[in-house]
Amino acid sequence: DDLIEDDYTPVRWFRANLIKTTKEQLLKEFSHLTQVYKLDDIKQGTIYHDEYIPNLFGMHPKDKLTSTDAYLKGRVIIQDRASCFPAYILNPTPRKDKVIDACSAPGNKTTHLASILQNTPDSIIAFEKDEKRVKILKMMCDKAGGLKCISIQHGDFTTTNPMDYPEITGLVVDPSCSGSGIFGRAIDKNVQAEESNGGEDSENGGDYDEERLKKLSNFQFTIVKHAMSFPNARKLVYSTCSIHAQENERVAVDLMLDEQVKKQGWRICDRAEVIPNWPRRGFVEEFSALPDPEKCAGGCVRSLPKVDGGIGFFAVAFERDVVGLETKE
Ligand code: SAM
Repeated sequence: DDLIEDDYTPVRWFRANLIKTTKEQLLKEFSHLTQVYKLDDIKQGTIYHDEYIPNLFGMHPKDKLTSTDAYLKGRVIIQDRASCFPAYILNPTPRKDKVIDACSAPGNKTTHLASILQNTPDSIIAFEKDEKRVKILKMMCDKAGGLKCISIQHGDFTTTNPMDYPEITGLVVDPSCSGSGIFGRAIDKNVQAEESNGGEDSENGGDYDEERLKKLSNFQFTIVKHAMSFPNARKLVYSTCSIHAQENERVAVDLMLDEQVKKQGWRICDRAEVIPNWPRRGFVEEFSALPDPEKCAGGCVRSLPKVDGGIGFFAVAFERDVVGLETKE
């Protein structure tokens, strides 16, 4: 059975796509399944309500979600729980916020943002530099019904001029990483590009030498720093599917110590704004160079591969006060 690669039984995570359905309608559609409220209670024939992410559900992978009409028509979107953290943490307001997804393909977080933003026209700009992955991104946004709210830009996000985007209030930055939190790519071969992450070494068996991690973290720092220079952005979520502190907490620390970032007024959000009831937070010791390491670690969430019911993941949220809108000179 290609669904189960070792003795770990993965959860098939999926969220209600609010562009095409509601949580209630979806539950009606799956009313043949028994509703359960504890992860450990998932077995064939059950549907689990997640306690952390609204509109997110889990089921046993042997209950073939991929052959249901709900999946085929895009009313549900398969997405690992931890991968749902960034859009939920950013939590943009429909008809008010305009956001950028800096590294979009295959579009899990972009379409999650579209669902949260209730498909508000022109509320998301999704950048993707890889041409092939742009095609997948388009397909996914189309299937989700989000094309009027998402503008897809094929290009390198770091070459944009932030001053051209005074309307942007928030960003999700989910750049290429080592992919060290990903496992079981063959979990379900029917699911197209599901958590295909753009991880640089996700296919080569995990070669995480220091030099490569350094290169990746330099790139991650650069791309988040660029995102922080959008003049009216007041919230930003940075995430990776890496388990390495070097790509995670240490990138956040370097940003907080950067003179330009300091001047721009960015700080790490309080735990209260970053899924406060999720128990696994950032590594406190990694923040020792900053004034309040405990508080900084609280502004991060971590998910351990398998142990936390899915892929390994990291997210940290930053915020600042922007007084009045800055406009282009
Ligand atoms: N956020 C996506 C999702 O949830 O489906 C996954 C993103 S994946 C981890 C990183 C993506 O960023 C890759 O598709 C990669 O091609 C793209 N990327 C890397 N550098 C970029 C850049 N400078 N500008 C735009 N996209 C970039």
